[in-house]
Amino acid sequence: MQIISGKELALKLKSEMAAEVATFEGRFGRLPKLVVILVGNDAGSVSYVTGKAKTCDEVGILNETIRYDENVSQEELLQKIAELNADEKTDGILVQLPLPKHINEKTIISSIEQKKDVDGFHPLNVAALWNKTDCVLPCTPKGIIKLLKEKGIEIKGKKAVVIGRSTIVGLPVSKLLLDENATVTIAHSRTENLAEVASDADILVVAIGKPKFVTAEMVKDGAVVIDVGVNRDPETGKLCGDVDFENVAEKTSFITPVPGGVGPMTICCLIENTIECFLKKFNN
Ligand code: NAP
Repeated sequence: MQIISGKELALKLKSEMAAEVATFEGRFGRLPKLVVILVGNDAGSVSYVTGKAKTCDEVGILNETIRYDENVSQEELLQKIAELNADEKTDGILVQLPLPKHINEKTIISSIEQKKDVDGFHPLNVAALWNKTDCVLPCTPKGIIKLLKEKGIEIKGKKAVVIGRSTIVGLPVSKLLLDENATVTIAHSRTENLAEVASDADILVVAIGKPKFVTAEMVKDGAVVIDVGVNRDPETGKLCGDVDFENVAEKTSFITPVPGGVGPMTICCLIENTIECFLKKFNN
C-alpha cells in the first residue's frame, strides 16, 4: 500500500508554477491576478480563502480578497462581479461557496465571465467539459486526475466507481475519468447494494461528506482509493475523510489521506487555472 501525498505533489507543482510566474513580468509586463469574494464569517470558508491567498503568495501571483457582511445584497455582489469582469488586470474571479440563503448561487456564478471562472463552475464551462471543448476544468476533479497520473496509475480500461454525483466533484470527476477511458459507474444515495458496487472498483473515488463511511468490505483488494471528503470525526473532532482510513488502507494499492491528499491539489489547480486564464489572454 502506498499513501498518495497530495501535499508533496502540490509542493512540486507550486515550485514549478513559481518559476514560470517569475518570467511573466518580463514577458507580459504584469502578473496574473486572482480575486476571491468572501461573504460572511463561516470558519470553514474563511480558512479556505486564507489558504488560497497563501498559495497565491507562494507562487507569486497577485491576489485580493473582497469581504462582505453576510447581509450583502445580491445586486451589490453582481455589481462587483461586473466590475471585475471589466477589469483587464483581473484574470480569475472566485466566489467562495456556500453563499447566504437570500443569494442565488447559480445567478452569481453565471455572472462571472466564463474566461475568468477559475473554479470551472460557470454553466458554459460545465457544458464545455461535457462537450469536450476548451474550458476551465474544475479544481478538485482536475487535481484528482493529476494525482493518479503522477503516481503512474493506469486509468484506461479500469473500472472506476465514483460515489457522489454533485456538480462540483462527483459528476465532473466521473467525466474526466471517462475521458481517460475508464469505465465509470456513478453511485449515490439511492444506489442499491452500494458495497457490492463499490467493491467492484479498480479506482474508487468517494465524495459524499460522511465521516469514515467507506469501510474495508466496500473496497476490492488492491484498489486505488481517492478520498475527497472533508469531515470532522465525531469522536475525536479531528479532520477525517469519507473513508475509514485505518480500516481500509491495508487493502488498497494506493490511497489518499485526509488531510494532505486531494485538498492541497484543489488549491494548486485553482492557481494553475488562474495562470491558464492569464496566459490565454496573451496567446489568443
Ligand atoms: P454534496 O453536494 O453534498 O454531494 C454529496 C453526494 O454524496 C450526493 O451525490 C449524495 O447522493 C451522495 N451521498 C450522500 N450520502 C450518501 C450515501 N449514504 N450513500 C451514497 N451516496 C451518498 O457534496 P460535495 O460538494 O460533492 O462534497 C462531498 C465531500 O467532498 C464533502 O465532504 C466536501 O467537504 C468534500 N470536498 C472536498 C474538496 C477538496 O478539495 N478536498 C472539494 C470539494 C468537496 P444524492 O445525489 O443521491 O443526494
